[in-house]
Amino acid sequence: MKPLCQIDKAMTLAAPRVRKKARPAKVVQKTAARKKTVRKRAAAKPPAPREPAPRAATLLAWYARHRRHLPWRARPSEPADPYRVWLSEIMLQQTTVKAVGPYFERFLARWPRLQDLASAPLEDVLKLWAGLGYYARARNLHVCARAIVERHGGAFPDTEDTLRTLPGIGAYTAAAIAAIAFGRKATPVDGNIERVIARLHAIETPLPAAKPLIHAHAQALTPARHAGDFAQAMMDLGASLCSPKRPACALCPWNDACAAHRRGDAETFPRKTPKANGALRRGAAYVAVRADGAILARVRPPAGLLGGMMEVPTTDWTHDFDERDALAHAPFKAAWQRVPGVVRHVFTHFPLELTVYRARAAAGARPPKDARWLPQHKIANEAFPNVMRKVIAHGISD
Ligand code: SF4
Repeated sequence: MKPLCQIDKAMTLAAPRVRKKARPAKVVQKTAARKKTVRKRAAAKPPAPREPAPRAATLLAWYARHRRHLPWRARPSEPADPYRVWLSEIMLQQTTVKAVGPYFERFLARWPRLQDLASAPLEDVLKLWAGLGYYARARNLHVCARAIVERHGGAFPDTEDTLRTLPGIGAYTAAAIAAIAFGRKATPVDGNIERVIARLHAIETPLPAAKPLIHAHAQALTPARHAGDFAQAMMDLGASLCSPKRPACALCPWNDACAAHRRGDAETFPRKTPKANGALRRGAAYVAVRADGAILARVRPPAGLLGGMMEVPTTDWTHDFDERDALAHAPFKAAWQRVPGVVRHVFTHFPLELTVYRARAAAGARPPKDARWLPQHKIANEAFPNVMRKVIAHGISD
């Protein structure tokens, strides 16, 4: 006799399968479609946040206590000067606050009002800008000053839309001027603010695709009143506590509302799409020194990279530069000598490597067309970009 458990098992195995009654095809399709819609809706909805929403008032209270004192910033009870706001915002693009400080002071001392800057020669503006980099900004600054005088009687327009019609003023700068100088509800979003927002919401989409989402979150946070203070508070938070590598979350006024802080990986935001570095470009530069020490220099073409800035003669900077042809491009015939080593410089989009050649010229040597002899003591005050200063230093070194 089989034990009971085996009988049960045998019966179960032997039992005929009861087939469920097949549902009509229409019903099956409807159910599948319904499930799909539910799944879609769930995916489209952001997960319910576990943190309280960040509040503008909290940040404004922090800003009242911890705002940075910057040379272009108005004191708490004073109205902001649009000229100073504009000048500082243009200078701060791609440049640090520390580097901009002395340039801002020098510009303001030389051209205290917009009208003064508008009537200055471009050459002088470029000279005072030399060393700050991204020289297109200096040219645009000058064109913009003139446009404000010509089109708006010297007064800055006070809306984002009109500000954006001016040369060199993009979305960010227009929003910054509108908010800070005119108290408009506008939301400037620069790299620092992108970082704060990406962390607050732990945004997984990498930059630059995340920009519209980040901007929408920033706009939603901007208060109708004190939008200028709010914009500056965001800038200060991004520049101080919410730093790229080691955010000081313990001191942050928004740490209870920050999703990335709760996760413990704030420094990994914002996500970024890895960018390919530009390919290396190479070329040759020629440092000609006259018997009295003067250097041969010329002005670069007005448009394009470093347009309107000073340089020593150079070849084009290309990916396939052949050093064997270098002397064919020298500005005049002479006993050119290759200076050992190379000058390296990194532009935003590509790294550059220049081979430097040096030659002596007689005391009365005439400069080639479009070039001039420049006494060495004047080099510091001319609009040479940093790469050219490196080339000259390399060329006259022993
Ligand atoms: S809590 Fe930390 S990561 Fe979040 S906004 Fe503040 S400083 Fe940035």
